[in-house]
Amino acid sequence: MKANLVTSKLLIRSFLVFLILFVSVNSVKVHAQNSIESVRLWSAPSSTRVVFDLKDKPDYSFFSLRSPNRLVIDFSDSKTQVDFKKLARSDHRVKKVRTSAPKNKKSKRVVLELDGTYKLVVFPLAPTGQYGHRLVVELHDTVKPKPVVKNKKADENRDVVIAIVAGHGGDDPGSIGYKGSYEKHVTLAIARKLAAQLNKKAGLKAVLIRTGDYFVRHERKPRMARENKADLLISIHADAFTSPQPNGASVLVQSARRANSEFTKVIANREKESQLLGGAGEIIKNTQDDNLAVILADMTKEFTTQSSYVFATEALKELKKVTKLHKTKPVGLSLAVLTAQDIPSVLIETGFISNPKDEKNLNNPAHQKKLAMAITSAIKNYFTQYPPKGTLISATSSLTHRVERGESLSMIAQKYRISVRNIKDSNNLRGDSIQIGQVLTIPKK
Ligand SMILES: [Zn+2]
Repeated sequence: MKANLVTSKLLIRSFLVFLILFVSVNSVKVHAQNSIESVRLWSAPSSTRVVFDLKDKPDYSFFSLRSPNRLVIDFSDSKTQVDFKKLARSDHRVKKVRTSAPKNKKSKRVVLELDGTYKLVVFPLAPTGQYGHRLVVELHDTVKPKPVVKNKKADENRDVVIAIVAGHGGDDPGSIGYKGSYEKHVTLAIARKLAAQLNKKAGLKAVLIRTGDYFVRHERKPRMARENKADLLISIHADAFTSPQPNGASVLVQSARRANSEFTKVIANREKESQLLGGAGEIIKNTQDDNLAVILADMTKEFTTQSSYVFATEALKELKKVTKLHKTKPVGLSLAVLTAQDIPSVLIETGFISNPKDEKNLNNPAHQKKLAMAITSAIKNYFTQYPPKGTLISATSSLTHRVERGESLSMIAQKYRISVRNIKDSNNLRGDSIQIGQVLTIPKK
């Protein structure tokens, strides 16, 4: 009995302690006011993204109003000292961001004055990388893209299309250089120069998947490439490592094998991180889809994998002429988000932004141009050797054949179903002797 009393006294006491603790923790929570620390706005061709950076997890509600079109967001128990006036000056969807009379004394009301009606996506993001709690507002254009009208005539002798993805953008700066430059700016500068170079060449056409400082979701890139009927997808990136020593360029291709080296693991993690930074939360939530994407990528058609590898080798050969190489062979990387399964794809790490010398070069327009020209040469060489059917290049270029051990002129002539005479004429050959490694032009029949 006595013992029991002691126990219950103890119980009561600990309950009281618990109660006091609970009350004090709770009261701290009640009084901890949230605050909007900054607001960032990114304009993309078909959407605008507004990001509110907050001290704590946002407690919010929103509604939209018509004539004039507005989006009203209420942040409960929040304060802010952000100057909204400077925002949205160049955006064509958000005309103005301002505060308005709040619901109650403690809350903050932010109004986005809009130019039209948009598909709204509002979601919070948990802290990751350099960012803390965020509330993301996305305004998507509702106009459906016009259906592609198939023009048969235009499809004949069409251009070879190269889709170029400038890595990162918008919220996602990519890697930050030794001296503080952002990967997203370097990649866009190189991508733009590459596109300009390619568009100067007959039979080649470049499509920039990202044209400004905004984030393109990973799953959208292959889709955009496909919509543009791309024959090749090139992602431009700059590498980074935890120490400043590693330098040089490398070319990555999709591989069915899991990332095994430390190097590829670092890249894989970095790209995942970038998805977290710039992408919407649902990609991470929806792990089932992600797994499916990985499985599908593992089933990559032989053709796509092989073509990617052949092109990657060609790219390294040309890049070697203008920059140091980090890896002399294509690096296999198992990462679904980097590639389209049906379009040969490579990811070019143009150098290490974490290396002081590389960073300086990567920011130098002359060096950027050199890199762009090297990649252009690789593209030209590759498609001259393997022109897709129906393209201007396939109509105008002749095949080439590299002589292998044991081959004779008649064997090669037979292979391409042309006459020995024809080969000899096209290559200005006098006799019948050919050498191993000699490259012969194979004329059209
Ligand atoms: Zn990158």
